[in-house]
Amino acid sequence: MLSNISYNAVITNDPAQFQQECLEIIGSTIGAAHAYIFEHCHDTNTVCNTFEWAAIGMASHKEMFQEASSGSLSWWIDQLTQDKIICYSDIEQIPDERQKKLLQERSVKSILIVPLFVDRTYYGFIGFDNCKTHREWPDEDIEILRTTSRIIAWVIQRKKTEANLRIQTSAINAASDQILIIDDQGKIEFVNPAFETETGFTFEEVVGQPMMTIRSNTHDEGFYEDLWKTIRTGRHWYGEMTGVRKDGSIYTEDVSITPVKNEAGIIERYIAIKRNITEKKIYEQKLDHLAHHDVLTGLPNRLLFSDRLSKSLAQARRDDRLLAVMFLDLDRFKMINDTLGHNIGDKLLKQVAERLTGTLREVDTIARMGGDEFTLVIEGISRAQDAAIVAQRALDVFCQPFMVDGRELFVTASIGISMYPNDGADVETLVRNADTSMYRAKEQGRNTYHLFTESLNATVFERMVMEHSLRKALERDEFIVHYQPRVDIRSGSILGAEALVRWQHPEMGLVMPGQFIPLAEETGLIVPISEWVLDAACSQSKIWQDKNSPILDIAVNISARQFQKGDLVSAVKKALDRTELDPTCLHLELTESILMHNTDAAIDILNKLKDMGVKISIDDFGTGYSSLSYLKKFPVDAVKIDRSFIKDITTNPDDAAIAGAVIAMAHSLKLKVIAEGVETLEQLEFLKSINCDEMQGYFISRPVPAEEFHHLLWMQRYSPNMESLFVA
Ligand code: C2E
Ligand code: MG
Ligand code: MG
Repeated sequence: MLSNISYNAVITNDPAQFQQECLEIIGSTIGAAHAYIFEHCHDTNTVCNTFEWAAIGMASHKEMFQEASSGSLSWWIDQLTQDKIICYSDIEQIPDERQKKLLQERSVKSILIVPLFVDRTYYGFIGFDNCKTHREWPDEDIEILRTTSRIIAWVIQRKKTEANLRIQTSAINAASDQILIIDDQGKIEFVNPAFETETGFTFEEVVGQPMMTIRSNTHDEGFYEDLWKTIRTGRHWYGEMTGVRKDGSIYTEDVSITPVKNEAGIIERYIAIKRNITEKKIYEQKLDHLAHHDVLTGLPNRLLFSDRLSKSLAQARRDDRLLAVMFLDLDRFKMINDTLGHNIGDKLLKQVAERLTGTLREVDTIARMGGDEFTLVIEGISRAQDAAIVAQRALDVFCQPFMVDGRELFVTASIGISMYPNDGADVETLVRNADTSMYRAKEQGRNTYHLFTESLNATVFERMVMEHSLRKALERDEFIVHYQPRVDIRSGSILGAEALVRWQHPEMGLVMPGQFIPLAEETGLIVPISEWVLDAACSQSKIWQDKNSPILDIAVNISARQFQKGDLVSAVKKALDRTELDPTCLHLELTESILMHNTDAAIDILNKLKDMGVKISIDDFGTGYSSLSYLKKFPVDAVKIDRSFIKDITTNPDDAAIAGAVIAMAHSLKLKVIAEGVETLEQLEFLKSINCDEMQGYFISRPVPAEEFHHLLWMQRYSPNMESLFVA
């Protein structure tokens, strides 16, 4: 009987039918009057949902329990929930009167009831009764009923689990998120339909494959290592990833991976839930763009501008560099708007934005603050002049008229400039000061720019004027060369001259090299100027040589820029060829720093010059690296001790010692030594005492125009002793 029941339990799909069958089998086999199963309803504390089998001729007892009030069953339920059986061969022995009465009314004589527990909670009971005789219930009957009760509980339990599982499965299948189950080896065990739809991979294609096979190539190895480290140690991983589809296309997904542990706490598998967030991301980006940009022009708005400016300020602070903030306002824009309408005004603003953007470098920022106001951040500049150049370029975009709806519109702008750190160190101050300067620009007649710091306006202006006229100076032939004699320290005879350039400015008068050479270097104008000097000096020297038989050397200064960028060798060759000057009469003066900066290239250039026969002197010696041994590398003929050492040579023992050491070392390297800036007889005497070879300085003569120099030569020729020369 039990094996019959067990078999049915395994194959059944319908717990109700199974329970009914059970009752029939055991009721008839045991020979009871009734066999029944009552489910307990926990809400009402009564019985419900009943199955019953009754022997032939027996009235049903179904109603007996169902109709009983919860109070009359309390003893009964009490016993059963405590897992006690109710077993009476004579119901008279039942201690509870209400219970006894209930059974007597139905003429029950003996009864056997065992409780039913499903999933450890009281479910109801199964029982027999006998109505004709007092029946003893042997242990076998009790055992049979107990076993049957357990089998029924198992069937009910299984059905419940199956139902739950069905619900869960349909939830997984219906989920819009991708769900993957991965085993502890990283192999895919399960994927849901959402995964198949999103990626194009089928269940069969990926199950059994390692997770690696569905990776995109956009993350580095370290990314996956971190991920696995997290989940292998039992922690939850959550993050953004790039997913890949079967066709190779990629998308952004939110991924959450949870390790699942068994009862022993060991990770058995991982559940991954993924969601495509590409669209969400695009939407977010769009929102972000909207929040930070001006709709009309697409330029950054005030918010983004402030953000960028504060970042740029931090960078400028770190790099110790200047930064310019510009406030640009269109002149009389309101008039255009009022007379031609907002539509035209808007189109004009768009074009202005485009043109302005075109004049800026990638790193600079331009923003629209609203209306006809624009702001610019110019980074990485080294002087106010650079900001002025950018501002001028911005103003220049307004030179051409704007074409709006077939109409030519002329508009200008005014720009205010504030500079970090001079005019402010924070966003607010810089913008405010740029704004103030913009009003100053308007006051100055519009279509111009104005720097917040007044003095800068002056320097920028001076420099601009200077640069402009410096460019013109060459064309206008405003440069002249003065010559300073170089004499033999013992005999006093003139050995040569140093050519020193001057700028004969129509308004400013004679401008000395210190005032324009740095600007010429910065602007690159030094190259054509120096070439002009070289040429002029060579031809002058040739003239003197032709007139005065003693060979006269000419020294020409070479600038760093000329040495690095200009083609010095061919410029020298050209000048020598044109003037037919003997190359050995030409000395080029270079400073140490020129050589030290570009050693290999410098040696190469110097060798080429030496091959031509040209001589090389190191100018301003002592102010730079002052390494004579280092100079050995270069084919150098002479060093010129800088004026600053000569100045105090008779009073400052340090200077005297340095000069002495330089002369001794230079001589050991077979270099000639020339003293610069000798102004007194004492200096001359001292230099003579420490064996200096040659000298230059006001004591002999200032640099003078060519005619005067000619006069000096003439004097020397006719009164060739030193005293008379000094008197001159
Ligand atoms: P430098 O080559 O060291 O020229 C010597 C400077 O010292 C000259 O100044 C000269 O007038 C001045 N000097 C000469 N003797 C005395 C003296 O006894 N006392 C004082 N106090 N000064 C004296 P200058 O002519 O103003 O030239 C300055 C610098 O400009 C030159 O220094 C040279 O580096 C540069 N320079 C001049 N002409 C040229 C040129 O044609 N090309 C290039 N690249 N640089 C030039
Ligand atoms: Mg010089
Ligand atoms: Mg010098």
